[in-house]
Amino acid sequence: MEGMSDERTTPGDEYSAPDEHSAPDEHATFEDLGLRPELLKALSALGYEEPTPIQQEAIPPLVGGRDLLGQAATGTGKTAAFSLPVLQQLSAHRRDKPPVALVLVPTRELAVQVSEALHKYGRDLGARVLPVYGGAPIVRQLRSLESGVDVVVATPGRALDLLNRGSLQLGEIATVVLDEADEMLDMGFAEDLEAILDETPRERQTVLFSATMPRRLDALARRHLNDPVRITIAKEKAAAGEAPRVRQTAYVVPRGAKPAALGRILDIEAPTAAIVFCRTREEVDTLTETLNGRGYRAEPLHGGMSQEQRDKAMGRLRSGTADLLIATDVAARGLDIDLLTHVVNYDVPSAPESYVHRIGRVGRAGREGVAITLAEPREHRQLKTIEKVAGATISVQTVPTVADLRARRLDLTRAALRESLLGDELDRFRVVVETLADEFDLMEVALAAVKLAHEAGGGVDDDEEIPQVGFRPDSGRPDTRGGSRDGGRGAGDGGRPPRRSSGPAGRLFVGLGREAGIRPGDLVGAITGETELTGRDVGSIEIHQRFALVEVPEGAVDDVVNALRATMIKGRKATIRRDRS
Ligand code: ADP
Ligand code: MG
Repeated sequence: MEGMSDERTTPGDEYSAPDEHSAPDEHATFEDLGLRPELLKALSALGYEEPTPIQQEAIPPLVGGRDLLGQAATGTGKTAAFSLPVLQQLSAHRRDKPPVALVLVPTRELAVQVSEALHKYGRDLGARVLPVYGGAPIVRQLRSLESGVDVVVATPGRALDLLNRGSLQLGEIATVVLDEADEMLDMGFAEDLEAILDETPRERQTVLFSATMPRRLDALARRHLNDPVRITIAKEKAAAGEAPRVRQTAYVVPRGAKPAALGRILDIEAPTAAIVFCRTREEVDTLTETLNGRGYRAEPLHGGMSQEQRDKAMGRLRSGTADLLIATDVAARGLDIDLLTHVVNYDVPSAPESYVHRIGRVGRAGREGVAITLAEPREHRQLKTIEKVAGATISVQTVPTVADLRARRLDLTRAALRESLLGDELDRFRVVVETLADEFDLMEVALAAVKLAHEAGGGVDDDEEIPQVGFRPDSGRPDTRGGSRDGGRGAGDGGRPPRRSSGPAGRLFVGLGREAGIRPGDLVGAITGETELTGRDVGSIEIHQRFALVEVPEGAVDDVVNALRATMIKGRKATIRRDRS
């Protein structure tokens, strides 16, 4: 009847699945997947409009009872891909005690997250879902198991523990899911997994999901999966449609300058919430202290902390009491933090896969995200490898200089004063100015007032010059025009830091501001993404309630205007013009 829904017949379809069986309908709906009404209702209440590619391909065979081996990047919706079929097979408002499904996950945080998802999807079915993990009082978990559950979501260690105590009964398990299986193997859970699987019925359904498929995982799958359906969703494919956009930038910084560089980048990026990945627990602790000492609100998260401490850290981030989470990979595994806008790699990750995992935490569900990597001059090759494996483009930039930062702060002060001049009731200060004017020149009075306003505006002037370095043996990045920034050598020795464009600055008016959630990074990203300019060409940025002003080299203003008019900023079309104020 409604044959007009032409999203179904997208022309120029670049979706074509690489599998033999011709996918009949590229844009199946959840209804098409045959899910029961209780689930459809929950999904529409959650605002899920259509299944993601992994859901589209995995749900039908899973509902049909097949074993499955699924590989898809972080953030592609694997949780629902296995949860919905489990719930589809559950008798509504079941009363029996032993669980019928067991989901194994690598960490406690993920156990909580996955069980919340199952709970939300299964609410109308009365699904009883129990997360089970170490570090929480076992008594409560025992009591819940005792009173009966349908789905247990567990970390392998605690599952085994409960199994050995005889309180986790696996005799009625119809489905076992191994979620983030690669992570579980990495964390040394292989034996635990084997032991647990051995306790479940042979005729069970086994489902294995993973972001990567290392060989060891294949071996595990061969032993425990029975003629599985194999599904691999390429990153590009998941990204088609409303592509999760992640702006990826690397800054080349000498090791010793990293804390200062990070601080400065955070100042300019102004993330709502960011996670900074470190290699070790010690690095997490040190960096947390350093950042807090510099006035940031950072919380550590690593495996050496007690469960309670980790909960508190997460809680502070969620409530906005902290805006930086400094974490190791292990502690942050699988976390899905809604408000996360930035992922920072304090070091270049040694494995490209972990880069992919990490940045998968932002840019979810079509939102824009930012990934920042601090690279040392010798890490060029590693970064290239990551670009290749991740299929990403990482733009290399130099850290903003002290002069950049000062200029930006002065601009903010100027903007604040201008706003005050336009909008505030200032008359009650008149007497102060008049009295001082008897003694001083008005200009001098103004200067002193500006100084006080500037200082009150916060932002300690950090005078630390961060050396401007490039990658070491640079095999000709096309964008080293001018070539004067010699790789590695040019420390900021007192002189004026090199500025790319010394010509006069022109200004751009952008008809989106704070109200639209615009941040400096969005504007820099749009400009560098759409034009030849690099981050260093972009001068001061003022963000007002309804608009923003951006400085770019005078000669480039027209190009930038044209380029930005043809694109969107934060998913929106904006008025763009040359500013003549
Ligand atoms: P993965 O396990 O693949 O890393 P998740 O299952 O954690 O990914 O899903 C990532 C995010 O996408 C979650 O916030 C989830 O609620 C959301 N999501 C999953 N499926 C859909 C869908 N079909 N439509 C919209 N959002 C979805
Ligand atoms: Mg997941």
